[in-house]
Amino acid sequence: MLLTNGKRIMKVIAITFTIIGAMLLTFFCNDEANAVKAIQTKDILPIDESDENRKVAYLTFDDGPSKNTIPILNILDQYKVKATFFVMANSAPEAKVGYKEMIKRGHAIALHTYTHDYREIYVSKDAFFQNIERLEKFLKDNYSIESNILRFPGGSKNVSSKIYGGPTIMTQITSQCETRGYRYFDWNVDSKDGISPTVSVQTITSNVLNGAKGKEKVIILLHDINLMKNTVTALPTIIEGLKSQGFAFDVIDDKTEEMQFK
Ligand SMILES: [Zn+2]
Repeated sequence: MLLTNGKRIMKVIAITFTIIGAMLLTFFCNDEANAVKAIQTKDILPIDESDENRKVAYLTFDDGPSKNTIPILNILDQYKVKATFFVMANSAPEAKVGYKEMIKRGHAIALHTYTHDYREIYVSKDAFFQNIERLEKFLKDNYSIESNILRFPGGSKNVSSKIYGGPTIMTQITSQCETRGYRYFDWNVDSKDGISPTVSVQTITSNVLNGAKGKEKVIILLHDINLMKNTVTALPTIIEGLKSQGFAFDVIDDKTEEMQFK
């Protein structure tokens, strides 16, 4: 009887160990599979073009390249995020590296006029398009960059242009864009980093994150200017905040629907 009981106990222990072993094996295998899945999801950040409900953020940097371009690109790389740079003509050594690195690291480059000087570009519609064509030649000859996407200095409804080109100057220019083959983009979230270098990191960050709340598609105005170092400092928090609001990131290209001030 004792022997039988002993055998029975041994059998129960053996079965218990087998069950625990099987459970542990299942647990770890699933965990490993989940971990692999999590890493893939985190790294790829897929953008499903067919999903019309996706939340998309377009980070756009105006006025570069500058001494901040490489720090900005390094942060974007760190988060595996691509951005759009509306550039000017700049022959400074850091700018030469800037254009090349923007291309090499897979960002979009678009047009923001050659000189950005309102007194020159907004005198007439012809003056504006000559300035843009000059920038296009500069980018093509030096860096083989071509784009028909543009952003107006000050945006398509800026008031300062009227001082130089009269009350209808922006309408004259914008109405010519389509026939000349250009597509222009304004923005719906302004970081206000371009106002002054003293705009704080905190203000830039909250302007972007509060501005993006409740929106499905955001085109965010930021600047790539030597003096605007707070933009660089704010960038990681901006990206993390947008991610936690559920945004994926994309660049402005031929497929992007225009966003223009009404
Ligand atoms: Zn600008």
